[in-house]
Formats: sequence, C-alpha cells, structure tokens
Amino acid sequence: MIILVTGGTGYIGSHTVVELIQAGHEVVIVDNLVNSKKSVLDKIKTITGIKPTFYEIDCTDKEALEPVFKAHPFDGVIHFAGLKAVGESVQKPLMYYHNNVLSTIYLSELAIKYKVDRFVFSSSATVYGDQEVPFVETMNLLPTTNPYGETKAMSERILKDAATVNQNFKVSLLRYFNPVGAHESGLIGESPNGIPNNLMPFVSKVAKGELEILSVFGNDYDTPDGTGVRDYIHVVDLAKGHVLAIEKLQDAIEIYNLGTGHGVSVLEIVSAFEKANAVKVPYKIVDRRPGDLPAYWADANKAYEKLGWKAKKTIFDMCKDSWHFEKNYKDE
Ligand code: NAD
Ligand code: UDP
Repeated sequence: MIILVTGGTGYIGSHTVVELIQAGHEVVIVDNLVNSKKSVLDKIKTITGIKPTFYEIDCTDKEALEPVFKAHPFDGVIHFAGLKAVGESVQKPLMYYHNNVLSTIYLSELAIKYKVDRFVFSSSATVYGDQEVPFVETMNLLPTTNPYGETKAMSERILKDAATVNQNFKVSLLRYFNPVGAHESGLIGESPNGIPNNLMPFVSKVAKGELEILSVFGNDYDTPDGTGVRDYIHVVDLAKGHVLAIEKLQDAIEIYNLGTGHGVSVLEIVSAFEKANAVKVPYKIVDRRPGDLPAYWADANKAYEKLGWKAKKTIFDMCKDSWHFEKNYKDE
C-alpha cells in the first residue's frame, strides 16, 4: 500500500513508518515539525534503507495538503499529527481544538474526495474518562478532564459519522494506553522539548543526571503500593499494531485498545529502570498531580482476536530501550 502518515517524524509516527516500510509499504510523511525534527528522516533511512518522501506541511492548511493527495495514489492515511500536552491544552484550549480537530476534518474530507478508503486515527485511553477498569472498547466514553482529551473524543465522533455515510471510507480508531520505550537501534525515540511531563522521559533524564530527582505524584492511591498505575506499552509494539490495523481494516468503523492489559505502578517503573540499566533513579513522594486517575489499564483482547495483535515487549525492554535512546540522543 501507499500510505500517508501525518506526524510521521514524531515519536509514535516515526516508529510506525519504520514498521510500515519493513512490512513492504510505501510511506509519504506530512509533518509541520512543531514537535519533531527533519533529521528523523535520516534515522529512518539508516534503519530501513529507505528515506520516505516528506512534505513540511501543516495539516490545518487544506490548500497545502490537497496537492499531496493529488500527487500520490494513497491507499490509506494514518493520522498521528496532533498536539498532545495535556497541561498546555488547558492553558491554550483553542489552539488544541483548532490543531487537532481541524486537521482530522480536512484529512478525512480529502481522503473521501480522493477515494482513499482506509483511515487510522491516533486516539487515547483518556477518552474513557473515569470508569471501571479495565477499559473495554464497548464502554461509553465519558468526559475527559482537559481539552486535549476532548479533541480525541471529538475526532473519533467526526470520523465515525463520516464513515457511517461514506461507503468506501473505513475508519480504525486506535486508543493508546501509555506508549514508552524506543527503537532498539537507539536512533529514534521520544525527545520532548524542555522538562518532560511524562514519567518515562523524566526517569531517563534523572538517570542521566540532567534532572536531579523524580517527583512521584502521590503514594496514597488505592493501588498495591499507593502510586499511580498505568498500562505502559512499548512503542514498537504499538507501531506494529498500526500496520495490522491498516492492513486488516474491513468494517466501516473499527475500534481497538492498544495496551498490554496489565497495570504497572510508578514505583515499579522506577525499580525496573534501575535494574534493567544498573543506574540510580532518586525520587521523592510529592502531592498527587491534579486530574490524574489512580489506575487504569486496557482490556486488550479485541485487538488480539480481530487483528492477531498482542504486545510482546516487557517492562524491562521498555526501560532498556528508553535508556539506550536517552544515552545516544543528541539534539541535532
Ligand atoms: P509527537 O508530538 O512526537 O508527534 C506528533 C507529530 O505531529 C509531531 O511530529 C508534530 O510536529 C506533528 N504535528 C502536530 N501538529 C501538526 C499539524 N497541525 N500539522 C502537521 N504536523 C503536526 O507525539 P506522539 O507521542 O508521537 O503522538 C502521536 C499521536 O498519538 C498524537 O495525535 C497524540 O495525541 C496521540 N497519542 C499519544 C500518546 C502518547 O502518550 N505519546 C497517547 C495517546 C495518543
Ligand atoms: N508521574 C509521576 N511523576 C512524573 C510524571 C508522571 O509520578 O514526573 C506519574 C503520574 O502521576 C501517573 C504515571 O506516572 O500515575 C504516568 O504519567 P504520565 O504523565 O507518563 O502519563 P498519563 O497516564 O498521565 O498520561
């Protein structure tokens, strides 16, 4: 297939591009580089031997996007492009709604116009809101606590409505749990600007000595060790899930959780990181972070039953590969 990957120089996008190329697909990337670097394209070439075609375009610029659809006979779109900082979305809600929702509308309009019948969308476990765990695809969505989460719920709704009335437009909504880790080459991974918000990049920077100490947000949750529990998934497993989701897309609307099905606590991550990499991660317990849920993880059975997809990599792999990337990483 020839696949348009928006946000393909970003963290999850770049790993998915590698897996798509290695599965024999042709990839065209569109990214405005707001949160990634062009040098990622050379890294992809080092890993796969192929440098994908790249357009530096903003997905909210429909006029700039249309020629890309005219130039390439796409079989599918995987739409990763989006802003993802939860805290920033509270401060700048309109920027988030504009970027994340408008890009979804324009890309689906163009996909329908140019008869591209497969559309895979990066959604998030955050759309489940606060309800019983594990989260399963049949649950109703509940309001999230921030504009970022709402952009995901809205985009899902828009794509479902579009797929309902356009016979040849099939949509796969992938709800990610907590993607971590990096490619085993150490060439691509997550390199957030400034101080990381997420646990694994923060832990890596503490281990490296770039940050002094990890703040553990609360140890009084109703969880086995009192710290928050999440379903961490290796980004390469996640990337492979996208390849299967686009290859096997059949129904008008398919929805899958991409997670491991197991919850892991903050302190378990710290301990696994220290053991996997023979490093120290000093930490202190601080107050809970506002808006955090205590514990959630995926019911990951549907993706296994329908796509034959299952996360294979362990927490040990996630910690080892995150550290490998962090040690190698140069800001270029
Ligand atoms: P990322 O920031 O590394 O990648 C997103 C890419 O999209 C970046 O390269 C950025 O430059 C690009 N981009 C943003 N807005 C754009 C626009 N308007 N036009 C063109 N390019 C644009 O983030 P990621 O972690 O790889 O996330 C990819 C997708 O998965 C996002 O939609 C994100 O919301 C979603 N997601 C991420 C997580 C996570 O924890 N990383 C969890 C659930 C869902
Ligand atoms: N967390 C933490 N310290 C940090 C960052 C995160 O204790 O510096 C905790 C957070 O409270 C949650 C878990 O780690 O329980 C995962 O947080 P992250 O921000 O990575 O992902 P989220 O699940 O919130 O999207």
